[in-house]
Amino acid sequence: MRIGVNWGSLDQELLTRLMDENKAAGFPLTAAQVMREAIVQSAIFSATRAEEIGLPREKIILSAKVSQVQDLIAVYGELARRSDHALHLGLTEAGMGTKGIVSSSAAMGILLQQGIGDTIRVSLTPEPGGDRTREVQVAQELLQVMGFRAFVPVVAACPGCGRTTSTVFQELASRIQDQIREEMPAWRSRYPGVEALKVAVMGCIVNGPGESKHADIGISLPGTGETPAAPVYIDGEKAMTLRGPAIAEEFRELVLGYIEKRWGPGGSSRDAAE
Ligand code: SF4
Repeated sequence: MRIGVNWGSLDQELLTRLMDENKAAGFPLTAAQVMREAIVQSAIFSATRAEEIGLPREKIILSAKVSQVQDLIAVYGELARRSDHALHLGLTEAGMGTKGIVSSSAAMGILLQQGIGDTIRVSLTPEPGGDRTREVQVAQELLQVMGFRAFVPVVAACPGCGRTTSTVFQELASRIQDQIREEMPAWRSRYPGVEALKVAVMGCIVNGPGESKHADIGISLPGTGETPAAPVYIDGEKAMTLRGPAIAEEFRELVLGYIEKRWGPGGSSRDAAE
């Protein structure tokens, strides 16, 4: 059972008492710090009461609803220090678009890195006509980029620089990423463990091969003035060089073949995933 404390509807009696105590102590804390303390005390008090009336401790998860990054970090840091209940992280009213994503990621990333938090929620204001799937996607990507869980294969593309004027690597990376998103629901059952796949699509010969070798399968496309050839690396080794107008299509086929070989029936990574 989730026990939530919302900073917007805090127990006024508790807040007033803490403000009075702070005043009597010569205002050692700011109003924001007193509010955080009230949230922490309220959450712990409510959990204690719930246990007293029979709710098992392992059924309780504490949730503090605050909307500022520093408040979330401070409140959950205190909750983790003063309580051993499970904690649900989430920045409420994080905002729209990049602001909401950055705020949630910054706050929860810091807490998760300290081992604080058992479940998470990303709360974004949807674009007009938008839905809530973006929130789930951002939460999964946060856990994945931090290395805690893998949900979908990662496609890394170089940012591009003066060594290439081509946008082929961006288009190819984007097409592979889109394909992965579309196919993932079916792949999950057909290729158990495929979410660990790492693909690299790089834009030139200078850094491309090095980066591609770190992926499971990677391609280094030709940069400006380079020979129109694209070496492909599989499991860290150069496997072949693609040439001609169908490089993108051929690389996508290679990626699919790699998935089948590793995570398909009898694949080399199949046993580990099952
Ligand atoms: S791989 Fe090449 S094109 Fe891409 S960022 Fe690195 S140097 Fe620039």
